[in-house]
Amino acid sequence: MTDITHQEMLQKYAEAIVKVGLNIRAGQRLIITLAANRGVPIQFAPLVREVSKAAYAVGAKYVDVIWGDEEMLRLRAQHAPHDSFDEYSTWQVDAIVKMIENGDALLSISGANPDLFGGLDPEIVGMIQKTHLKNFARVSERVTTNAVNWCVVAAAGEAWAKKVFPDLPAIEAQEKLWKAIFETARIAQPDPIAAWQTHIANLRKRAQYLQARQYTALHYSAPGTDFTLGLPNGHLWISAQSMAQNGVAFTANMPTEEVFTLPDRNRADGVVTSTFPLSYGGTLIEDFQVTFENGRVVKVTAQKGESALQKLVDTDEGSHRLGEVALVPASSPIAQRGHLFYNTLFDENASCHIAIGRAYRFTLTGGEELTDDEFVSAGGNVSLNHVDFMIGSPQMDIDGVKQDGSREPVMRQGEWAFDA
Ligand code: ZN
Ligand code: ZN
Repeated sequence: MTDITHQEMLQKYAEAIVKVGLNIRAGQRLIITLAANRGVPIQFAPLVREVSKAAYAVGAKYVDVIWGDEEMLRLRAQHAPHDSFDEYSTWQVDAIVKMIENGDALLSISGANPDLFGGLDPEIVGMIQKTHLKNFARVSERVTTNAVNWCVVAAAGEAWAKKVFPDLPAIEAQEKLWKAIFETARIAQPDPIAAWQTHIANLRKRAQYLQARQYTALHYSAPGTDFTLGLPNGHLWISAQSMAQNGVAFTANMPTEEVFTLPDRNRADGVVTSTFPLSYGGTLIEDFQVTFENGRVVKVTAQKGESALQKLVDTDEGSHRLGEVALVPASSPIAQRGHLFYNTLFDENASCHIAIGRAYRFTLTGGEELTDDEFVSAGGNVSLNHVDFMIGSPQMDIDGVKQDGSREPVMRQGEWAFDA
């Protein structure tokens, strides 16, 4: 692709991010960070600048960016004193919280090096991750209650692109990853905004169907998976678009293909086998199985990254339980690309998934107003963590279990089993 074309695509992408993703209102401020609160690397400046232009074009009052350097995180893990990993740079969290409380919009760019901490002492990586989660909780809590319009989008980072397309030279890998981002985010279509409106409406119909069925549980079967997951009373099926507490309708993920709700934290039983690797905190976890009893993880095994997986589960009590259940057909445009992205924003939209840890408050009727204890009593899960992992495949069947115990097909061989 030529530079001009790429620049034009970035402009269209930025426009869709501002108008569909964030839906920025005139007079709002916007803060841009790297997903998971690392500062945005300078390699993403061309996208950040286009987003800023697009935001000002719709009347944004001020666009702020937290810049950073990933290498600094790796350096610290390698060289900082062993007893220093509970240190944290809280000024970034303070700034983000302040902006959210002011009703500003929040954009997170995902594109970090999925292997940033590869080969480092898992003990240290675990400590860094836990310290981050503890300190970042003030932001996570506000995001999971949709306090303001927020959005996560991707940028084709150099290291990430090399991970996705290891056989290509660096520049070609990056171009190919940008192309994949533009296509899956519907930016390559003639009218991306209209394409998004159609897509949002279609996903909403799926969510409305599932909402009307009022299933009390889902049952999953696939090779290595025999699993029942309860759905609490008051669960809400959510798709692409949500309403923030500041009154702005927004689309939290670009791309998005999922329809999701919260599981009952006390009702998960059986075994699930992962169908995609999981990139967690800079470590890849591959070919893993998780066993549940009464909602709680009782066993994990993994071919690769087992100690990282165990650390994830051991973060706190809530990370022994589930906080999200999402349905995505195996034929999703992202799955059809036929390769992994090693990035949850993409891989979760290629496959049915569940999430270890915190449930989104907006997936339970009135959930935003409940205290943590009340939310937990209603079946919701509370944790510092929220980590999606993929379990769907073209071999997966899912049944919806009704109040009377009867079952009906929700998915067959990885595809929707109902018309919406
Ligand atoms: Zn999800
Ligand atoms: Zn999730």
